[in-house]
Amino acid sequence: MISPTCPYCKARFLYPELKQRGKKHTGVCPHCGKPYRISRLARVVYILGALAILFLINYGLLFISDMNLPFMLAVTVLGVTAFYLLFPFSVRFRKAEPDKPQAKKEKKPAKNGHLKK
Ligand SMILES: [Zn+2]
Repeated sequence: MISPTCPYCKARFLYPELKQRGKKHTGVCPHCGKPYRISRLARVVYILGALAILFLINYGLLFISDMNLPFMLAVTVLGVTAFYLLFPFSVRFRKAEPDKPQAKKEKKPAKNGHLKK
């Protein structure tokens, strides 16, 4: 599991810090002072991944003979707990861009001086 880092200075964050910072969508890096935002996509991917893994584990358990429901439930509960505890690691810091809609991407030199808008 890749631990989250600041998109600017690559500073690592400790677990309690991640837990705290994950509650807000934006913030400022304590190391370099630059603004970041929390990626929502990364969290969705994490949750979907966790569900898929739990499903696969349970599916795999079905092939073990003498498997019983309480055991599968216990495994599921343990799995959910593990994913819940690891959830802060799903925090992904992204650079918080000040709103600039694609203007910066295409740097076309003005062909003539009349391109005013
Ligand atoms: Zn930083």
